[in-house]
Amino acid sequence: TSGGAAVPARPDPAAGRAVHATDRAHVFHSWSAQGKIDPPAVAGAEGSSFWDYEGKRYLDFTSGLVFTNIGYAHPKVVAAIQEQAAKMCTFAPAFAIEARAEAARLIAERTPGDLDKIFFTNGGADAVEHAIRMARVHTGRPKVLSAYRSYHGGTEQAINLTGDPRRWASDTGTAGVVHFHAPHLYRTQFYAQTEEEECERALAHLEQTLVYEGPHTVAAVILETIPGTAGIMMPPPGYLAGVRALCDKYGLVFVLDEVMAGFGRTGTWFAADLYDAVPDLMTFAKGVNSGYVPLGGVAISEKIAATFEDRPYPGGLTYSGHPLACGAAVATLQVMAEEGIVEHAAHLGEHVIGPALRDMAERHPSIGEVRGTGVFWALDLVRDRETREPLVPYNATGPDNAPMADFAAAAKRNGLWPFVNMNRTHVVPPCTITEAELKEGLEVLDEALTAADAHTTAALGG
Ligand code: PMP
Repeated sequence: TSGGAAVPARPDPAAGRAVHATDRAHVFHSWSAQGKIDPPAVAGAEGSSFWDYEGKRYLDFTSGLVFTNIGYAHPKVVAAIQEQAAKMCTFAPAFAIEARAEAARLIAERTPGDLDKIFFTNGGADAVEHAIRMARVHTGRPKVLSAYRSYHGGTEQAINLTGDPRRWASDTGTAGVVHFHAPHLYRTQFYAQTEEEECERALAHLEQTLVYEGPHTVAAVILETIPGTAGIMMPPPGYLAGVRALCDKYGLVFVLDEVMAGFGRTGTWFAADLYDAVPDLMTFAKGVNSGYVPLGGVAISEKIAATFEDRPYPGGLTYSGHPLACGAAVATLQVMAEEGIVEHAAHLGEHVIGPALRDMAERHPSIGEVRGTGVFWALDLVRDRETREPLVPYNATGPDNAPMADFAAAAKRNGLWPFVNMNRTHVVPPCTITEAELKEGLEVLDEALTAADAHTTAALGG
């Protein structure tokens, strides 16, 4: 694979300070960088690493925001973007364009079932917006059911569908969004003891929610196939099939959000493949071209696409299927196939990450649960293994968040950039990371976890 060790350019700390100062003066950052963290100015990135202007190199266990599935600066994808820019840099969305047609064909070839038509967007949130609008127009119904412990994007509808604290500040209680609990045995809402019980009770809860909402008012159920930012919770066997059956029973559109889980991250092309799940609509973004140029979309089933044959779908975007983004997607999907990147991700999950994290769980009292697949893993960190009390309170900031901050600082000191969300750290490096790099990163993670252990009841003796 292509995740070779990156060689930092010549250090230039003064340039780094200037970039950082200008950035802080003029870039109004999104929530991931407001006050909470102050990342260094980045001078370059290649493969699975990036480096700052001091010449310090970090192994990126976050894949950016879990999107650089093929790593940074893949030469073939960079070349394809340059070629596409020279050939046709941009063009309006209504016309047939080679790069767009080819990207749609390659995506449709990989998506499950009869999801054969692709509506392109600029990213994940707008893909969710359009999937929901399609479901509403298709059914003529207003409401959408969405899970707590989910993230669907930062736009108005997508953030209201989201089931975590990022929704709170902008929550208008948008008409038509109803939340329910999806299964998660480790922190069960259903007093379940086994995966089977959790699955059965979660499905009963979803059906009851539907019945009380009035199924004739509900357009869709939307779920991340494997919820990502909210904790990489693998659904129990039978759950997605059960949701599919409920959607069919009540005539709802089943939407799977594969923005984070799609395109190789799970060691399969899509997380849905792990469960033989076939939704009516599937959203994607991120890994489709590893974020080299913004791109997202909705894969649409024949049944839904047919609805819009006689009447136009009321939606569109100026940059829908932008030629540069689609050129990058074509090259990315070809590279993934040529280099066996999906298979590599599956191998790493099964033979390297899974065993290493389970081994760490034996030694670190702060690890409550290990879960994941492919290059998509979470460590659920706890203060107390018996009670499963999270290592930090829900949505903690400042001193309350010290245990996670200490852990992250320890990792960064030793050259690992970790993914941290509330009481969890996720191991989500590029799918192309080499085994040697991965093992090096896991060793740093292992050591950094001792900083988390220090905040557990085992260490505090209480
Ligand atoms: N859905 C899921 C499952 C996501 O993980 C994300 C982004 N983290 C989004 C939607 C939103 O995508 P974007 O940030 O590209 O709008």
